Order: sequence, then structure tokens, then C-alpha cells
Amino acid sequence: MILLLDYDGTLVPIVCRPEEAKIEAKRKKFLEELSKKHRVAIVTGRSMESFREVFGEIPETLYVITSHGAKIFKGSTLIENFLGAKLPDLSPLKKKITSMKGILLEEKEGCFALHYRNFPGEETEVRKLFEEFVRENPPVRVIEGKKVLEAVYERVDKGKAVENFLRLVGWDGKERVIYIGDDTTDLYALRKVKELGGIPVFVGREKPPEAEVLLHSVDDVYGFLSRLEELVNDK
Ligand SMILES: [Mg+2]
Repeated sequence: MILLLDYDGTLVPIVCRPEEAKIEAKRKKFLEELSKKHRVAIVTGRSMESFREVFGEIPETLYVITSHGAKIFKGSTLIENFLGAKLPDLSPLKKKITSMKGILLEEKEGCFALHYRNFPGEETEVRKLFEEFVRENPPVRVIEGKKVLEAVYERVDKGKAVENFLRLVGWDGKERVIYIGDDTTDLYALRKVKELGGIPVFVGREKPPEAEVLLHSVDDVYGFLSRLEELVNDK
């Protein structure tokens, strides 16, 4: 079995400050055990630095795919790097947000994100700022997540990340592939996994057409993962 798991909102609840989305020790241990039996990859929009801040030391058996697929790690070793693009100069944007409390600019590998979960003002204000910047520095793609706007300058997405990962681990086309994610960025991956005959799982209130299974919470994700062996045998 190959398991691809989003991090924020899937393995840990969404919190106000992204750096506080730490994983519980017992859940980390559970994932580590899982990664000894199956190939398990965490697929995150975070950079490795930001991921390590919330996850801690990465077990050697666990794969981590960072920045929407830009880099693939096994344990803490970088094994594939799809990063080529350079970020534009973000200083004009930085200058503008210094006076806007609650907006966080996160610089990542090949993309940047504006988080506005803690911004008390109007969402349209943030959007205007973001749109002005991307108009002058057009990215490959803009991603709208939960209270976050992202500009991606790299030709990667989580769907391509799934493809690259399967190629990398030498997927035989038969082994069951499961992807679990909660956000719009995961839909690329869910679509890909569905195409490949795997099990696309969405975490949220309503099942998007890309998914086959709907889970409602992070707790449900761990319940699902615990029951997975039985479920896969039933399918
Ligand atoms: Mg997520």
C-alpha cells in the first residue's frame, strides 16, 4: 500500500498560526510505525524548514514531499528536487504588509503565501494587495486555500507530486494508492489518484467530485488509517 497524506487539516487540525501546528507524539509514532509497513509520504505545501518546525525529527522510513511537490525527501535526505524557478523580489509586498497586523508572508521554495487568518480587516483588502503583486510578477499558478493566497512560480502541484513519487518508488500499477487531503490544493492529487484507480479521500464537510471517501475530521483520518488494512482488503 502507498499512502500519501496531506499535513495541515489532515494529520493535524488547522490552527491560527501555521508554526503551531505541531503533531502529537503518539500520532507521530503511529505514522512512523505505518511507514515501516507501507510506503508513506506526507505531501505538504510547507517548505522542509517549516515542516520540521511542526513535525520535529523525521523518521528515516517516512517520505516528505514539500512545497506542493517541489522536493521529495526520505527521512531528512533530499532524494529529488524539481525546483528550478526563482521567486520574484518580495520586498515591495513585505513593505506594504508591515502596517497590516495579522497578515503573514511566508516565503517557500518556488512559491510564497499570504496568510490572513488573523487579519481583522476586510478580505478584499488582502486580495487587492495580492492581485496587484501577482499582476506585476505573474506566477504559474495562484492557489486559494483556507485563509491563504499562494503564488506558485514553480511548475509543480500535488497531482504532479503524486506522479513523481510513484515513479520514484517504482510503483507497479497494482499496489493500492491512497491520498488523503482537505484543501483545494489536494484536489489535483485526488484527481490523479482516482485516475490511477487508487482511493482519493477528502477531509471536510462535503465530498468533492474528485474524492471517493469523505472523512469529517483529523480524528477520523487516524481512525481511517487504523482500519485501512481491512478496508483495502474489502475493496
Ligand atoms: Mg491541508
